[in-house]
Amino acid sequence: MKKGKKKILFVASEADPFIKTGGLADVAGSLPQALIEEGHDVRLVIPQYRQIPKKYKDRMESVCHFRTKLAWRDTYLGVNKLVEDGVPVYFIDNQYYFDRDSIYENEDKHEQFAFFSQAVLDMLPVIGFKPDVIHANDWQTGPLPLLFADRYRQQSYYQDIKTVFTIHNLRYQGQFDGHAAGDVLGVAPHHWASGNIRHNGLLNYMKAGIMYADHITTVSESYANEIQTSYFGEGLDYALRLRADDLSGILNGISYDKFDPETNKNLAVRFSKGEVDKKIANKVHIQQKMGLEVNGDKPLIGFISRLVEQKGLDLVKTVFDEIMATGAQFLILGTGQREYEEFFKAKQREYPDNLSVNIKYDAQLADQIYAGSDMFLMPSRFEPCGLSQLISFRYGTIPVVRETGGLNDTVVAYNEETGEGTGFSFANYNAHDMLHTIERAVSFYNKKGIWNKLVNRVMNLDYSWHNSAQKYSELYRQLTGDEEQRLLQKGDESKVQIKVYEPDLKPKSDVKVKKNKASKKISINQAEAVELAELPGIGDAYAERIVSYREQNGDFTKKSDLTKVKGIGKKKYQKISKLLTL
Ligand code: ADP
Repeated sequence: MKKGKKKILFVASEADPFIKTGGLADVAGSLPQALIEEGHDVRLVIPQYRQIPKKYKDRMESVCHFRTKLAWRDTYLGVNKLVEDGVPVYFIDNQYYFDRDSIYENEDKHEQFAFFSQAVLDMLPVIGFKPDVIHANDWQTGPLPLLFADRYRQQSYYQDIKTVFTIHNLRYQGQFDGHAAGDVLGVAPHHWASGNIRHNGLLNYMKAGIMYADHITTVSESYANEIQTSYFGEGLDYALRLRADDLSGILNGISYDKFDPETNKNLAVRFSKGEVDKKIANKVHIQQKMGLEVNGDKPLIGFISRLVEQKGLDLVKTVFDEIMATGAQFLILGTGQREYEEFFKAKQREYPDNLSVNIKYDAQLADQIYAGSDMFLMPSRFEPCGLSQLISFRYGTIPVVRETGGLNDTVVAYNEETGEGTGFSFANYNAHDMLHTIERAVSFYNKKGIWNKLVNRVMNLDYSWHNSAQKYSELYRQLTGDEEQRLLQKGDESKVQIKVYEPDLKPKSDVKVKKNKASKKISINQAEAVELAELPGIGDAYAERIVSYREQNGDFTKKSDLTKVKGIGKKKYQKISKLLTL
């Protein structure tokens, strides 16, 4: 293989077109191909779920099967393979773990994904593939960097491999009873004792990925910064701050082949840049199909999403009647929390001509909505990257978004002074700010000259994978030392900064916190239990006792009152008091 070209194993719990519940599947289904186009040898590995369509199972070839041990369990491990769009895809086969009614909603999911993570590592010498980088994704593969540090990196076959862990959504962390650390993952006790895989007294797969990967990425630069704050950090912001030097944001792309208005067979009328009238024909088609009033001049707002709190549905609920009063039509496709499903179903009865509510998952209908809508609403509370605004751009649909995460990085607010911009946006998570932004978008929709310019502009944007794949390539090269080599060869030694990362043996969190806290102490009257728990000598149990003492008795008036907290004797007090202030 050419220099600078790497062997990459991309590990995910879902990948389009085999199995999809969300944006992760889009990424795992398209980034590997983009990396192959960059010249790398990339392979993808996912579990072989029952739900994978037969047409793919029929194409799989058996690569190998053997027995392995998951802690004390003797288990079967099969590896099957097919090649899809030039990407070799491995499927981890074990009927006990993956032949299930549900993909993620199983009582023993900690065991399913511990098995998956370990199976990926176990299969490598057997299939004869030695990657330069293993790229794991989200909590389901969080155990992989941990297992790697615990007992694989020490073996010669694995020693040069680097691990990358990408966070697609920090909200979903995989939290389980701590017993599983030994009983299922079979890792040495110090990983738990150090706090590296523990959060709020539970085993946390996301934290394991964060603490043990050589590098962590997330799917936009804004989200990479946001998750280091307590508002967006989902309780793990302290862990992300500890790893801040090894954390970066790389924006997702979308497949420009799959989402192509010129070739997509799901569309009523295919169209190219500049063919605004054909876009309107798609709107008329979807209005007819959904039983809405058919009127090419009415602005149509699309909303395709999981119906969960993250997506800003509280805002939509609060001002729904006012949104309908703008004269726009609203088309919803999604499934999720019952309260939202019920709300929209009830509203449909009030607005039969202007509201269409579709509580289902339907990829074909989604394409038709993207193509037929004038605007696409995403008022998310947080949004790691968001793919829907990028898909909307591709189909000339103007996003109306809250400025957070990837939405902030991709949608430029329309500026009527300069005429610049690619969408409409608002900053605060506030229903009336959203409403005003929708009203503003509708008012510009009625100025055809301006609107058509916007439509043409967004259709010319490039959010294909190409740029992002180059950034991942750069990261892989840096991690595997190529960049240093290149600089050394050029004789440019001054620029070489070789970072050595030592993830496991020392309880890293403690070491760093100690350093930080030397200059800044933690206040016992203000700190939350999670912050206190990170201090050496405190830990979860004492932290919780300190906080509950404070809740019951009010603020500490002097530090030595800590000795009144159950279990804190003189010795313990002396040890921890220097880290604390009132
Ligand atoms: P998330 O990963 O948080 O769900 P993203 O915007 O990153 O959100 O990705 C969501 C993807 O799933 C998009 O491709 C979107 O079009 C698709 N999608 C969401 N809900 C549905 C649905 N009900 N039917 C079809 N596609 C959907």
